[in-house]
Amino acid sequence: MNNFAYVRPNDIDSALNLIRTRPKARFLAGGTNLLDLWKMGVEQPETVIDISRLGLTDIAPRPDGTGLRIGALARNSDLAEHSLVLNQYPILSRALLAGASPQLRNAATVGGNLMQRTRCPYFYDPAFPSCNKRKPGSGCGALNGYNRMHAILGQSDECIATNPSDMSVALAVLDAQIRVLGPGGERVIPISEFHRLPGDRPELDTTLQPNELITAVDLPPMADTKHAVYLKVRDRSLYAFALVSVAAALTIENGSIASARIALGGVAHKPWRVPAAEILIKGVSPDHAAFDMVADRLLQGAHAYRYNQYKLALARKSVIRALSVAAAST
Ligand code: SF4
Repeated sequence: MNNFAYVRPNDIDSALNLIRTRPKARFLAGGTNLLDLWKMGVEQPETVIDISRLGLTDIAPRPDGTGLRIGALARNSDLAEHSLVLNQYPILSRALLAGASPQLRNAATVGGNLMQRTRCPYFYDPAFPSCNKRKPGSGCGALNGYNRMHAILGQSDECIATNPSDMSVALAVLDAQIRVLGPGGERVIPISEFHRLPGDRPELDTTLQPNELITAVDLPPMADTKHAVYLKVRDRSLYAFALVSVAAALTIENGSIASARIALGGVAHKPWRVPAAEILIKGVSPDHAAFDMVADRLLQGAHAYRYNQYKLALARKSVIRALSVAAAST
């Protein structure tokens, strides 16, 4: 066990000052991922900044009265059961309830969910010597190892890990915006630019800077909630990460698709969304041929490894299934 300092600031400015001035400091919110990583020896913070007294738990319409602003420290369970989410963004509620267990959702926060790290076993266990994400330059143990849960899209030879979050997949189709505060003030990051692909820097999961704090997530209004689904395929029905998941939201007018938004989880280092695939089915009838075409485009360039070949077919079938259910929803 390494010695560490524990601090609990009462306001955001103090928290930002601490993260800026303390070496190897980490924010602690729900702790559902950090504590696991710490126990395993993957994380070894010298200062833990407990941010539980910062507020940031409100879930309410944005200041202009539209959409929703979700405080970064709102608990996953509170968000999933909030009336505004159930009525206006049911796809987000379904994705949250598909993740983890009730006990974990009671502790986990929205900001922490965005920041959670891959569950690649080579990353989680320092006994494995090769993991570029944990130890840059050491190689990727999964590349020629047991890669059943790993990525088929957007990966690099440096890292083939997947992002484990269900919530982030739903936020991707909702065009969420992540509000962050740092030394330079506030900035807003579109969810599509928040998580990153591994490239040659797999140790970086997101575009958040080390001294920044997530304060809220904004959602624009969702015009049509009827044709929206979250489909998660996993090894068992509870408490398992996605092999493949699909968040799909269609707007259907006069029997044709007026707009489509589709994001995949469990297949890449970030929620996988391809705007060119969504445009393909605009104005066409919501049928199997259209959904097959979308699946083709979404999975263009997909590449599997020894143990995750099954994901190629599973992702295709999951996209078609999710879109078919979304189209048929009333
Ligand atoms: Fe590490 Fe990524 Fe390779 Fe897993 S896939 S061993 S996280 S570098």
